[in-house]
Amino acid sequence: MVNGWSIFVHSLLPPSCVLCGGPGQPPDLDLCAACELDLLPNSPACARCGDPLAGNAGGTLVCGACIRRKPHFHATYCAFRYTYPLDRLVLGLKFHGAIAHGRVLGTLLGQRVSSQALVALPDLIVPTPLSDARFRERGYNQATELGRPVSRILGIPLRTDLVVRQRHTREQAALTRKDRRKNVRGAFAATALVTDASIAVLDDVVTTGSTANELARVLLGAGAREVQVWAVAHAGH
Ligand SMILES: [Zn+2]
Ligand SMILES: [Zn+2]
Repeated sequence: MVNGWSIFVHSLLPPSCVLCGGPGQPPDLDLCAACELDLLPNSPACARCGDPLAGNAGGTLVCGACIRRKPHFHATYCAFRYTYPLDRLVLGLKFHGAIAHGRVLGTLLGQRVSSQALVALPDLIVPTPLSDARFRERGYNQATELGRPVSRILGIPLRTDLVVRQRHTREQAALTRKDRRKNVRGAFAATALVTDASIAVLDDVVTTGSTANELARVLLGAGAREVQVWAVAHAGH
């Protein structure tokens, strides 16, 4: 459990790499430079949905699927591809209480967003909410843990109070693309108006984008001017 005492102790220890156990990077990144190089950037990728694209294309390319059927969100930035060893860090954060991984991954995401000229900074960051049942079971929301360093690095407020997950959806991983869309329909509800706000919704991994798309639809319905998607990784093909 994260409490004031453990944060205090953590701040006294030199950073150590969560992957290899070697020295981390000062002042406080628990990942060494060599392991950081093992994380595969999600580039090139569709500027709208983050789907990995082949070749060396860069800039503002948009994939065929986004041209045929525009998602509700207007842009996506995923820092990495969901491959080894990044997947170990994400799984540890999601299922094994490794909050330290959230600090590392959130710091990397925040640093990369801040160095991307193509990412327009939003007014607010909204972590994808968990259902109450899953939050109780896990004890924390991994997207919120990722969002804390991102918010601090960029100086943009992290808002966990604007939207709730009202339905405990089945794990998306086992479903087809079409079933994922149905599965998340009605999963979220806005709890406040967000009139004219530009919002980045934040999640650990984007796969088909169905969850982010539904969250974007709800936030736009609550008055958001635009919604973009930020994630640590893209797990698409
Ligand atoms: Zn290392
Ligand atoms: Zn796309």
